[in-house]
Amino acid sequence: MNIFHSCERAAELMSQALDEPLDLADQMRLRIHLKMCRNCQEVEQQMATLHILAPQLGLFDLDKNDDPDPPMAKTD
Ligand SMILES: [Zn+2]
Repeated sequence: MNIFHSCERAAELMSQALDEPLDLADQMRLRIHLKMCRNCQEVEQQMATLHILAPQLGLFDLDKNDDPDPPMAKTD
């Protein structure tokens, strides 16, 4: 059964889910993947923890920093 092409895709969905609701189909895929994939279960836990703690720690408060040396533009 090929739920995801990769755990990378699962991680993308997990990250996305923290910011916005996922499609029902994506939710299902992610849940199923997480049931089967121990690795992604741990990633999800870490992400959830980080997402809760980050605002308190200011980890994601990067907008105030003017990046003097921006990385090369990516075209995704
Ligand atoms: Zn996985």
